[in-house]
Amino acid sequence: MAADTNTVPFVSVENMMRLVLDIGVEEAIAGIAECIEEDFRRWPLFDKTPRVASHSAEGVIELMPTSDGIDYGFKYVNGHPKNTKEGLQTVVAFGLLSSVETGYPVLMTEMTVLTALRTAAMSAVATKYLAPKGAKCLAMIGNGAQSEFQALALKRICGIDTVRLYDTDKGATEKCARNLANTGLAVIPCDSAQDAMNGAGIITTCTADKKNATILSDNMIGAGVHINGIGGDCPGKTELHRDILLRSDIFVEYPPQTRIEGEIQQLEADHPVTELWEVMTGAKPGRTNENQITLFDGVGFAIEDFSALRWLRDQIATSDRYILLDVIADPDDPRDLYGMVQREKDRM
Ligand code: NAD
Repeated sequence: MAADTNTVPFVSVENMMRLVLDIGVEEAIAGIAECIEEDFRRWPLFDKTPRVASHSAEGVIELMPTSDGIDYGFKYVNGHPKNTKEGLQTVVAFGLLSSVETGYPVLMTEMTVLTALRTAAMSAVATKYLAPKGAKCLAMIGNGAQSEFQALALKRICGIDTVRLYDTDKGATEKCARNLANTGLAVIPCDSAQDAMNGAGIITTCTADKKNATILSDNMIGAGVHINGIGGDCPGKTELHRDILLRSDIFVEYPPQTRIEGEIQQLEADHPVTELWEVMTGAKPGRTNENQITLFDGVGFAIEDFSALRWLRDQIATSDRYILLDVIADPDDPRDLYGMVQREKDRM
């Protein structure tokens, strides 16, 4: 990477796609998962705040900042479930990493693809720590933009060999099954969420609807399964029946954010939850018995995006999948910004 002080590497969607294809989707997810694990193990070091959300009737626009004291990162991301009906995506994102020492950006990037990779990596990391031993079958409920990434992450990191798909839109399931053909996974489209549960030790819900939905009801959930509930990520937007929560041991990213946005918004404010980073450091237990239902109530936290950003910075250090953007005004005399503007006349 050859940036000087007034240019910043920018990874466009095209370059991100090419970079991910150079590396391989599963390998990229595994690399981000490693960064997430490293960062969760040093959790207390980070600045943490619930994301800053601007809600509207149709969706939400959010800013997600954090810093480890050396680097600072943030992501801009939306969530608009009605968008797909208009040919737009539910989630789009971009973000940047900057130096805490100078405040100068060091990387700007699209983050729509990167978010799908990091969300998949995060589910896989949670599953690695919480799923029943030897679980090989995933029920994937919601077969939209995130779904293939989710399935491939669990294949690469947790060793699943089968994915059972269900979506209320059959076209989404067909798309997902098509995309997952020839990936080494046995892919089974199902007619109902109940049918998808058959034999699944791991269940991931990743649907989009701006309401308290009941994607899974209590009678569908047998003892001993692990659930990644990741589609409910906003006030008034949940996926699981409350009774499932009451039977589960619940693991979260950052409680102050999850209590507002996660499945646990349906519970009392003091309902016990375990922070996942403490399971990773060994401070708290994860799964303790084979009958336990574990729930990762994932809403997506800024540290995961930070991990993805620093993974990307490392990748472009040895790749040319970026362009340099003239983002930083850089006068020869730092106090002569006005003079720099005037001198530009001679070059116009
Ligand atoms: P998407 O719109 O591409 O896909 C959502 C799918 O859910 C659609 O195919 C839709 O038909 C299906 N669906 C809706 N209601 C359903 C139901 N009752 N049963 C089964 N399927 C149903 O959205 P996406 O980009 O895949 O994102 C899915 C959700 O995940 C969104 O709500 C998004 O906000 C959330 N998300 C969370 C994180 C996180 O970190 N936790 C990250 C990214 C996205």
